[in-house]
Amino acid sequence: THLPNRHLFDKLIQNRISSGVSESLLLLINLKGLKVINALHGIEFGDQILTLTGCVLKLYTDEKQDILVASLGGDEFIIWIENSTKLKIETAIVNFDLNNNELLTPDRLGHRLQYRVSGLQFPNDATNLDEMIRKLSIAMNVAREGHLTKLVWFQAGMELKIEREQKLKNYLEKAVNHSNFKIAYQEKVDITSKETVGLEALARWSLPEFGEVSPEEFIPIITNSDLIVPFGKCIFEKVISHIPRLLDLYGKQIKISINISPIFFLYPNFNEYIIHYLMDHKIDPKNLIFEITEDVFLDEIETIQKIVFELRSKGISVSLDDFGKGYSSLHYMQKRQFDELKIDKSFLDDIACSDRNFLLLESICHLADSLGLKTIAEGIENEEQLLRLKQTTCHVVQGYLYSKPQILFD
Ligand code: C2E
Ligand code: MG
Ligand code: MG
Repeated sequence: THLPNRHLFDKLIQNRISSGVSESLLLLINLKGLKVINALHGIEFGDQILTLTGCVLKLYTDEKQDILVASLGGDEFIIWIENSTKLKIETAIVNFDLNNNELLTPDRLGHRLQYRVSGLQFPNDATNLDEMIRKLSIAMNVAREGHLTKLVWFQAGMELKIEREQKLKNYLEKAVNHSNFKIAYQEKVDITSKETVGLEALARWSLPEFGEVSPEEFIPIITNSDLIVPFGKCIFEKVISHIPRLLDLYGKQIKISINISPIFFLYPNFNEYIIHYLMDHKIDPKNLIFEITEDVFLDEIETIQKIVFELRSKGISVSLDDFGKGYSSLHYMQKRQFDELKIDKSFLDDIACSDRNFLLLESICHLADSLGLKTIAEGIENEEQLLRLKQTTCHVVQGYLYSKPQILFD
């Protein structure tokens, strides 16, 4: 890249600091998809892109005395900028496009170069290069998660979040190995007969250090790790062990719902594992519902259809959870393959005060009715919502108004 490396960059910024510079901003630039470029066009081509990017960045250094640029190796570049402000940099980044430079035009590269940027303030956020790079990388991680923003500034909260996540991940690994989760059951109630028709099993996890950790927090960590299948098995097996007692408590007609992550669902031999486990434990598949969410890639729909078809042929029902929350809901409806639709809480929150939301709910119910699907309203909390709901064809409710999730067994 003909740019200074990390060691030289360190010396150069030390010089700047010794010569009296007391404030500056640092940016980390990460090129996206260099691996793919290497795979498609070869390492040499990838190297050329790095060289050209280096040249483009160097142009800025040569023009201005108060900017230093270095290559951190791989696909990362670091920039030190004096006499600027966060706002100026934000505006510059919005207007700046690496591809606008004649060296890097998509025509020339056969490829549009994409990149992300993270930034921090010296000395407020970090005082030495090690710490700067560490914190820029933390902010870069956040930039990677978001898809919209090109530039993310480091914030102290990010470090705490990443530390907490890392700790939770380690503890989760142990919890999965020792099956250290509890199950809370929440009733699904028929509002006409007031009878409990089903129970949803919801994972609960608590730790001495953190107390009760919400599934909203730990499920995504599990989903992004390789714990997903062992966790899925752990919860499934635990619920199966509870089913005989649940049937005694609530009657043989009751159906128990288990949330299954799409990744577990797509795991090879998922169906065989489930069917054998049920047979071995003498559990009637008719007592079981799998709830899956639609956050699967659309191109997996065909595979999902096959799995769902097979499960249903064995007597297990399948429910589409959080209906309407994602963007592919209607795709899933193209072929009737589910038994029930769980209408997402966000569609029900305002039905008592918003005619528009009520109309939307009515339309979802019509759609489900005409496709022969049962509907369940999630997250009903008050009588006003219930009154409105009674005017629709959706007669099964799961919500705090009737029952909160409860841990029934140790
Ligand atoms: P979900 O499957 O949609 O479960 C319903 C969530 O809504 C539960 O949150 C439940 O406690 C909450 N809820 C029910 N009624 C009300 C209400 O009236 N008001 C409000 N505000 N909330 C209500 P929870 O237990 O925190 O679980 C959150 C999500 O985590 C679940 O959403 C599910 O997607 C996931 N999850 C929970 N357990 C498991 C599990 O064992 N496996 C997998 N893969 N995911 C799970
Ligand atoms: Mg669910
Ligand atoms: Mg739901």
